[in-house]
Amino acid sequence: MAFMIITIDGPAGAGKGTLASHLAKIYNLRHLDTGLLYRAVAFNMFQAGIKAEERQKAFEVASSLKPEDLNNSSLRDESVGNLASEISVYPEVRDSLLKFQQDFAKEASSNIGGAVLDGRDIGLVVLPDAPCKIFVTASPEVRAKRRLKELHEKEIDSIYETILEDIKARDTRDQNREVSPLRPANDAFILDTSELGINEVIEKACLFIDSRYPQAKKKA
Ligand code: C5P
Repeated sequence: MAFMIITIDGPAGAGKGTLASHLAKIYNLRHLDTGLLYRAVAFNMFQAGIKAEERQKAFEVASSLKPEDLNNSSLRDESVGNLASEISVYPEVRDSLLKFQQDFAKEASSNIGGAVLDGRDIGLVVLPDAPCKIFVTASPEVRAKRRLKELHEKEIDSIYETILEDIKARDTRDQNREVSPLRPANDAFILDTSELGINEVIEKACLFIDSRYPQAKKKA
């Protein structure tokens, strides 16, 4: 087996990021959280005083994105996530981020043996030929509770109802946009994490990955 590509898609807060970073460690792969690309575009727009409706400018910001823009802890802010979701409906923004993601997978495949990419449209659009696709999901209520816990751990005051509303609004936008709507690829393994702990999620994902890549080497 020359290299491994694992795609992980799913709605906000389903646990794809956590799963992806564990899998990258277990199989010694590079990891790209593609949400960070959309968040970095949104952050750079905030910095430049550009509004969500300024489509041409959003495209220009996306086209000039640099890898170092992803190393910024403010990208995780809720306001950045919400703007990221708004501008991710623009096809030209998505197009300009497509090559970045495909190049990442190509480069990781030739240098380290493969990559895990997590996002919304990786299995369907970015890397449709990847043999191993996982779609991670969980109920909006479970996702809102997880997010609330995370925010409380960071001592950020938050209200469950507001988070739940945000999650539902983001789901609706992600699922109904014309370009690359959020949905599983036909050959994706659907992993509902609502009732599972992280170890069970990893275990189920590994079973599927090992069935797709029988020669994959795992760290203990
Ligand atoms: O996953 P995360 O919450 O960081 O993503 C922020 C926003 O970026 C999402 O709400 C989604 O609209 C958008 N996104 C996307 N396609 C991806 C990753 C993220 O449209 N592959």
